[in-house]
Amino acid sequence: MRVTEYYNGLIKNNRAILGKAITLIESSLKSDINKKDLLISKCLPHSGKSIRIGISGTPGVGKSTFINKLGELLIQSNQKIAILAIDPSSSISKGSILGDKTRMPKLSNHKNVFIRPSPSKESLGGICESTKDSIVLCETAGYNIIIVETVGVGQSEILVDSITDIFIFLTLVDNGDEIQFIKKGVLELSDIIIINKCDQNIQKAKYTKLILEQNIKLSTHKKQTVSICSALKNTNIENIWSEISNLYKEKNKSGHIEAKRKQQNVFWLNHLINTEIQRKMKTSQTIQTLMHKLKKNQSGNTKQIIKQIINKLLK
Ligand code: GDP
Repeated sequence: MRVTEYYNGLIKNNRAILGKAITLIESSLKSDINKKDLLISKCLPHSGKSIRIGISGTPGVGKSTFINKLGELLIQSNQKIAILAIDPSSSISKGSILGDKTRMPKLSNHKNVFIRPSPSKESLGGICESTKDSIVLCETAGYNIIIVETVGVGQSEILVDSITDIFIFLTLVDNGDEIQFIKKGVLELSDIIIINKCDQNIQKAKYTKLILEQNIKLSTHKKQTVSICSALKNTNIENIWSEISNLYKEKNKSGHIEAKRKQQNVFWLNHLINTEIQRKMKTSQTIQTLMHKLKKNQSGNTKQIIKQIINKLLK
């Protein structure tokens, strides 16, 4: 397919073409590189107008149930929602936790909803990089709410935060470990923390909220909010949506969204440069030989060898 065909299809909100365009973006074929770049640069002027939401949490916490309920609420007001599921489990365990459309049965056939799992075998950075471009494609196709879902594994929260405006972390009622886990870093990234499955024990859910709010006061600079919900019973989903949209409006008005997106572009620029350097280092036989020399070299011409490596990289 030609780039103009992809582009025209996206402008006309053709879902099948959007799917094909994302496949192109995810392609690792050398012959697709120019097409990908051209398509993204044609689409960029149409992008940037959606609310980009990242949702993370451990498997089983209720992410897909929550997104399903949120989606059902949003389609009632004619919003167009794209759900991009990044599945790091596939590159780690070769399994696929998120790659199944049947996880969201009520949404997957709706005309205003586009669901795309990416159970890629590439590195997580690679998955996120193509998801970043997929967001641009979805925005070009008219989707105004983009949800990026990921399982909380390793670096995934940081990477998802680097392509979205608002980061939501789903957790369960206090079981000790869970709160410790949140304390270690995700707390700082999150804008909204949701304690799901409150139907199982409302008192414990309220207690967890209290503990988390205390932790936030003590250990972060942000004003994260903590909410309780039951995705299964559809409790509090509407309030949580008000919270998300109010936060977005507030951040947009204060220039925070624009600033964050600029920072994200710098982050991804650095990421691309680093990836390209790493790739060149690995694939060049000369550099490999020089690296070997460098590792063995205890004293003497270290600087000279580094210079040779850099010269080779710059060629
Ligand atoms: P994910 O792996 O994070 O996407 O989790 P799922 O949405 O697939 O949910 C895992 C399990 O938890 C399923 O059996 C859901 O029905 C159940 N579940 C999800 N939300 C709730 C909830 O609010 N309350 C209860 N009791 N169960 C829930």
